[in-house]
Amino acid sequence: MSSQNGFQFPETVRTRSRFRNPIGKFRVNRTDDCIACGKCVEICPYGVHVERRGQVFVENNYLCVGTECPEPCYKACPVQALSVRRNPVFDTLGDFRWTNELLASTWYMAEFGESPSAGLEYKVGNSGGGFDKLRLIFNGNRSRLEDIPDDDIDVSLELNRRDDNAYRIRIEVPVYGGGMSYGSVSVTTMVSRARAAAALGTLSCTGEGGYPDELKPYDDHMITQVATGLFGVKEETIQRVKIVEFKYAQGAKPGLGGHLLGDKVTPGVARMREAVVGYPLFSPFPFHSVYSVEDHKKHVDWIKAINPKALVSVKVSTPTDVDMVAVGSYYAGAHIIIHLDGSYGGTGAAPDIAKKNIAMPIEYAVPKVHRFLQEEGVRDKMTVIASGGIRTPHDVAKIIALGADGVCTGTADLVALECVRCQNCESGRGCARGIATTDTELSELMNIEWGAQRIINMYLAWRKELIRILRKLGMKSIKELVGRTECLVHLDYM
Ligand code: SF4
Ligand code: SF4
Repeated sequence: MSSQNGFQFPETVRTRSRFRNPIGKFRVNRTDDCIACGKCVEICPYGVHVERRGQVFVENNYLCVGTECPEPCYKACPVQALSVRRNPVFDTLGDFRWTNELLASTWYMAEFGESPSAGLEYKVGNSGGGFDKLRLIFNGNRSRLEDIPDDDIDVSLELNRRDDNAYRIRIEVPVYGGGMSYGSVSVTTMVSRARAAAALGTLSCTGEGGYPDELKPYDDHMITQVATGLFGVKEETIQRVKIVEFKYAQGAKPGLGGHLLGDKVTPGVARMREAVVGYPLFSPFPFHSVYSVEDHKKHVDWIKAINPKALVSVKVSTPTDVDMVAVGSYYAGAHIIIHLDGSYGGTGAAPDIAKKNIAMPIEYAVPKVHRFLQEEGVRDKMTVIASGGIRTPHDVAKIIALGADGVCTGTADLVALECVRCQNCESGRGCARGIATTDTELSELMNIEWGAQRIINMYLAWRKELIRILRKLGMKSIKELVGRTECLVHLDYM
């Protein structure tokens, strides 16, 4: 599998759950009446039943598609030894945005590198708004593209659109990993994301907690972040990378800055952030050196003086004048990327009151910025990246149709690593899955090979789904979709 630019994508390698009993939507029960005839093993298309040494077992409960099964084993069993019912544990998972179906379908993609073929909703959540109220409309000339191979449909994204001497960077999928700092997540999580980004020809961002040595082999695929706390910011790391991101605000908690609880400030984190072990760390809001476009320009110039070829990304939340911020960033010389962070994202460390009540939803902010940059005649000079609550490839396609060029992911990567959205991320030993932790014992629940491959698989599944969407829209390139709001319908206005 290669891209139009000749980039060779990695293979999907089936990567099973690291837990003995992965959570699925259905539960299959076998009674002692089973005569081990093997009928269920023969007919189940999902490999739920296995036969070993003359005995038959239910080994992969979580893969059962239940009521959507074309030829259910419980009907075919000659002695009625099988029954299938909904798994009650499944119904305790998730929330309205990240529903249990979206969690399980993302786990499926991370295991198989494909969207689930049946049994799980993998396109939308159940929030009653935002992306969940938007649908893509497929009126395109599909037949035009029916015979062309997947690899001839281009989903890559050029990041530097200014005619200057800074790096030319093309990412092979219109998605990259948003900032997650050392401290908020483990080094294993960070390196898994970085390794996956390198394999997929895209990028991953360090977040604001410094640049651990373990990321150095992935320098060409890293974005380093300069945030208000300046934790771990060094000239050496700014020179190391090709993109530097200023984090002015985060969509999940605009106006609040950052807060790392003391129990996550382990000796390693304290060393990296030049802080004291066990003491909480605050990133203030805002940058107290920036109150105007001119101040912002000084920031950009500072980066350019240290690393003249670096691209400068500006991460902002979505206040009502975000369109002015975008244009101001352009004129300040902020290099290429305006990274709009909407309010749907954030891990369990972002307070709910902020996530639900501050900042504009991303689906309003992106078209506003897209149109204003067009009116100012600079849209083709800026790359617009959207983030904050991108959960599925359908969300990616929708936000691009609204005017973004590409997206950043955060929570989706963690879900690929088997996050269950329990919202305990802020506490040092809170993450029972060993993802958003700095506790050395919990971090060992995961290894980098496994983590990287799960994220690779998920991104490969997203790429396939994006190509499927473009094919149905009759488009040969993701660029054709940018700003095409006529490809969307809002369910309230059908
Ligand atoms: S109901 Fe269908 S998918 Fe589920 S275990 Fe039986 S044959 Fe497999
Ligand atoms: S599983 Fe870990 S990363 Fe996911 S919500 Fe819970 S604490 Fe946070």
